[in-house]
Parts: sequence; C-alpha cells; structure tokens
Amino acid sequence: MTWTQQVQGPVFRPGDREFDEETSGFQTAYKHRPAYVVAATGADDVRKALTGAGGLPVAVQATGHGRTVPLDGGVLISTRRMTGLRVDPGRRSAWIEAGVRWQQVITAAAEHGLAPLSGSAPEVGVVGYILGGGLGVLARRYGYAADHVSSIDVAAADGSLRHVTADDDPDLFRELRGAGHGLGVVTAMEIGLVPVTRLYGGGLYVDSPHVPELLEVYRDWTADLPDELTSSVALIPYPDMAGVPELLRGRYAAHVRIAFAGPTAQGERLVAPLRAAVPLLRDTLAELPFTQSASIYNDPAWPHSYGGTNAMLRELDPTVLRDIVELAGPGAPVPCIVQLNHMGGALARPPAVPNAVGHRDAAYLVRVLSVLGDPAAASRAHGRLLDALAPWTVGRSRNFLFGQPWADQAGAVVSGTA
Ligand SMILES: Cc1cc2nc3c(=O)[nH]c(=O)nc-3n(C[C@H](O)[C@H](O)[C@H](O)COP(=O)(O)OP(=O)(O)OC[C@H]3O[C@@H](n4cnc5c(N)ncnc54)[C@H](O)[C@@H]3O)c2cc1C
Repeated sequence: MTWTQQVQGPVFRPGDREFDEETSGFQTAYKHRPAYVVAATGADDVRKALTGAGGLPVAVQATGHGRTVPLDGGVLISTRRMTGLRVDPGRRSAWIEAGVRWQQVITAAAEHGLAPLSGSAPEVGVVGYILGGGLGVLARRYGYAADHVSSIDVAAADGSLRHVTADDDPDLFRELRGAGHGLGVVTAMEIGLVPVTRLYGGGLYVDSPHVPELLEVYRDWTADLPDELTSSVALIPYPDMAGVPELLRGRYAAHVRIAFAGPTAQGERLVAPLRAAVPLLRDTLAELPFTQSASIYNDPAWPHSYGGTNAMLRELDPTVLRDIVELAGPGAPVPCIVQLNHMGGALARPPAVPNAVGHRDAAYLVRVLSVLGDPAAASRAHGRLLDALAPWTVGRSRNFLFGQPWADQAGAVVSGTA
C-alpha cells in the first residue's frame, strides 16, 4: 500500500476535480500548487502525510487567511476537516482540532456563558491565529489568545506526535505560542475561555474631512482607559459595491471600533468624549451579545487578494498621525486601509507561562493593508509608511504580515524567528 492509500482522508492530485477547491482559501493573491493535497481527518493522517512526504516540502492550510508563502510541489496538509471541539466549562477551556474556526468556538462557548479570545473575523482559523499571538476583541482585558493555551498537540517534520505542555517541553511550548508558524503541524490545542457573554460596543464612523481631528482625539482618549476597553480606528476607502452600507459606499471614512467588557452605562460614559468630539456619519454603539462581536468590525467575508504589513509603536507621536494621513490616507498612490490599535493593558503584561509573543512594550499597532491590484506599488506605498514610523517602531506583529511582496519580513513568520 502506498502512503497516500494509508491516509484515511482523501488525497488529491493536480487535475482532480476537488484539487482547486481544496487548495484555495481566503487569500486569492497566489495559490498553493502542491503535488499532493492530504485532506487530513485527524492527527494520524497528519502523521502519515509527514512521513509519506519523505523530505518533500510540506505546508499546512486551514482557511487560507494567512497564506504567505505558496507551496510549489510537495505536500499540502489541509486541516479543514479536523473540526473536533469540546468545551470544558469547569476548566473554562476548549479542546479544538486544527481546522476549527473561531465561529465554531464562539457558538459552543456561549452555551456555557463563556467566550474565546477570538479576533475581528470569526472565519479565521484558531490555530493559525494563536501561533502568531492572537490579538482579539477582548485583548486589553485578557491579553493575547496565546497567553491562554494549556496544551498543544503537534506533529514534527518526521511525523512524530507530541503533546506539548509547559512542564514537559517549556521551550517548544513557549515558541509555539506566538512564534509557532513553521514549527511542525499542530493537530489540536486546549485554549482558555473567559466569562464574557455581553459587550458594549460597535462602531463610530467619521467622514474624511474630520479624520485628522479624530485621530488626535483618539490618541488623547486612549491615554487613560480601563483594560476592559479595547479599541481601534480603521481608515477605509470604502468600495462602491453591494455589501457595503449605502452611506459608506465610495466614501473615505474612519471607523472607530469599540469593545467594552463591562456595564453598558459605564461604557457609554467612557465613549461620550469620542462621540462628542467630531460629527458622526454613523453610530452603532449598543449592548450586544459576544456572539455578535464580529459586527463591531465588519471585516469583508469574501475571499480576495491582499497584502499588508505593520509597525508596533512605543508611542503615538503627533508626527505619526500626520504621516498616516499623508502617506496612507485618501491621497495615497494606492488605496490603503490603515488600522490603529490601542495596545497596553493585559497585552503589556507577561503571561502566567512565558511565551514568544514579542513587543509587549508597544502602546499602539499601525497596520496597513491594500487589496492587490498592483502589488509592487502597494509594497512601495507600505514601505514609505514603515520608513516614516521607524523612529517609534519596536517590532512587527506576526499575524498582520500579509503577502508575497513582503516575503522578506513574512519569511520570518515561516521560520519563527521574527
Ligand atoms: C480578515 C482577517 C481578519 C483577521 N483578524 C485578526 C485578528 O483580529 N487578530 C489576529 O491576531 N489576527 C487576525 N488575522 C490574522 C490571522 O490570525 C492570521 O492570518 C492567521 O495565520 C490565519 O490563520 P488561518 O488558519 O485562518 O489561515 P491559514 O492561511 O490557513 O494559515 C495561516 C498559516 O498558519 C499556519 N498554520 C495553520 N494551521 C496550522 C497548523 N495546524 N499547524 C501549524 N501551522 C499552521 C500555516 O503556516 C499557515 O500558512 C486576520 C486575518 C484576516 C485575513
């Protein structure tokens, strides 16, 4: 029996009807072109794929949100069928298999009055997100998702399976939580859940002429906030297309995203200065169940091609705000989406068990992303912004390095050494 016959899940080759579907994902800029796709059904399939590969290059894909280096030849292990999930309300944890997306955990945890440390898009894969740290809806209150992992099952390149915890292999356990891409194929994890069922949150939308003023106000406002309040501002050239709210279509606007894990009345008091500072196009702040937390961000749900990079900043100098608007605002050479995340709070504190998430001294994170029409032009525009931010930059956030044109930076994500 050949190794492909020993695998329980299907194995696809180029030309098979399912090959394109199985290799595709959220990122459409470039494709994996493996010689084999192993559609793994469990850890044993992952083991057999790794041993069967016998030295050929191997890549792993859950959803394709973070695909960075496309595979040419070799074996792609597709984990999308590995969707096992068990919630343990007593331990406030969930055991998840490698193909589980956040939406599945959000729904299952809510039945027990719990929430995961998920991010803006529930379709993102849990494992890929946590391997890079995981900056979520409740980030300033609870820290990175990688700070709340108690065990990881991983298959090494030779196919050997290991159950990794803080006690039996502290070094590997540390690296897998925050610098884990490229350190083997994770087959399962036990992740922490938190007792959150409701939030006060949503978005404040501000029209283009008021964006510079809003950014100044946001900087002052974030100087003194409780950890329960996690927020960011996105500057977005909204496309004129279906799916975008009518009011925002074709418009350049800022979208302030608020998630407050506390009483609504307190949340309202905290956001009052922001609400009053500039005219608002739209205000969706309200109490909402955690299960609707994705509505705070409204990330695009359709697959597309994108590239992007980021800078974690020790402070938000006024020059930075001016540079963001000048270099990546409405007049940028290619349309750029800029996101400014307020860091600090629990993100700045070391976790109970040390991990590899870096740059905890960052007070803000600036992310820049472009839909890729002209990748080289986007790369140049993003590079100019990074250069301008360099004096304040303490490092890069691994989860927000997207795309082939940034392979020099993103390559570090693969080797786990950024
Ligand atoms: C729309 C969108 C919203 C996002 N929001 C957030 C956010 O709020 N917070 C945040 O921190 N990040 C966010 N991200 C970034 C995201 O967490 C990373 O891109 C992450 O790597 C995606 O993982 P995935 O499994 O979904 O994607 P995939 O492309 O399937 O995987 C990404 C990489 O992870 C590795 N990987 C995946 N599964 C395994 C495995 N089982 N074993 C070993 N390696 C594996 C592989 O190297 C793979 O190349 C977002 C990305 C997008 C596109």
